[in-house]
Amino acid sequence: MGHRPYIIGNWKMNGTRNSLAEARAIDRVAAKWPQVRVGIAPPHTLIHAMRDAVDSIDVGGQDCHSEETGAYTGDISASMLKDAGASFAILGHSERRQYHGETNPQVKAKSEAALAAGLNVILCVGETEEQRDAGTAEATVTRQLLACLPDVGNGDEGEPVSARLAVAYEPIWAIGTGRVPSLDDINAMHDAIRAKLCEAFGDNGAEVRILYGGSVKAENALEILGCPEVGGALVGGASLTNESFGAIIIAA
Ligand code: PGA
Repeated sequence: MGHRPYIIGNWKMNGTRNSLAEARAIDRVAAKWPQVRVGIAPPHTLIHAMRDAVDSIDVGGQDCHSEETGAYTGDISASMLKDAGASFAILGHSERRQYHGETNPQVKAKSEAALAAGLNVILCVGETEEQRDAGTAEATVTRQLLACLPDVGNGDEGEPVSARLAVAYEPIWAIGTGRVPSLDDINAMHDAIRAKLCEAFGDNGAEVRILYGGSVKAENALEILGCPEVGGALVGGASLTNESFGAIIIAA
C-alpha cells in the first residue's frame, strides 16, 4: 500500500499516571522504527501528560462528542481532545456502540466534528458473531461503514479526507477473545471496505488506511499485517505494555 503501517494502541479504561513509564518505553521503541507510525489512545485523563511524556508517538482520544461545547455532563469535545494534545480520535468502537448506545448517525457526526477540529479519525466497524455465522458480515460492515463515513469535501481545501481518516475493521467476536478471523476473511472484508471507500471518495478512497483490530498480539501481528489490504492494527489488551506492544511495532 505504500503507507507506513499504523499501529494504534487502545488503552480503553486502563492507565493512571504510573502507566506513563510504559508509554515512554513504547516511545523509545517507536523512535527506533520510524517506518511505523505508532499511536496510543489512553483514557482522556492521561492525554495531556502522555503528550508531554512521548516524542515519537501520536496520542489520541477514544471518543468525542459531536458538539463543540455545551451542557453534556461527562462528555468531551473534539476541540478539547485537540487542546489536550491529541492528534486523532478512535470513533464508533463497538464498546461505545454496545455500552453507550452509539448509533451510526452519531458516529458520523462525531467523525465530522473530529475532522473539523483538526483530528485524524479512526472509524471502527465490525460484525457480531451471529452476523458472521449468518453470512451477513460483509453486508453488515459495509452498511455500517457507509452510514458512518464523514460527509466532508474531498480535499477541496487542505489535505484530502483520505489522509486523515482510517477505518478499523474489528469483528466484535474477536475483541479481547484471543480469536481472530482467517487471513482470507480479513482480506475479503478489507477488500469490501476498500471498494466502498472508493465509491465514497473516488481515487482518494484507495489511500485510506484500513486497520485490523481484535486480538492482535505479537505472535499473530506479522501474518495479519502481511495481508495486502491491512494497513495497520488497532490493538487493545496487547498495547498496555511495552513488552507486547513493542513486539507488535517491531513486527510491523
Ligand atoms: P483487543 O482489543 O486487542 O484486546 O482484542 C481491540 C480493540 O478493542 O480495539
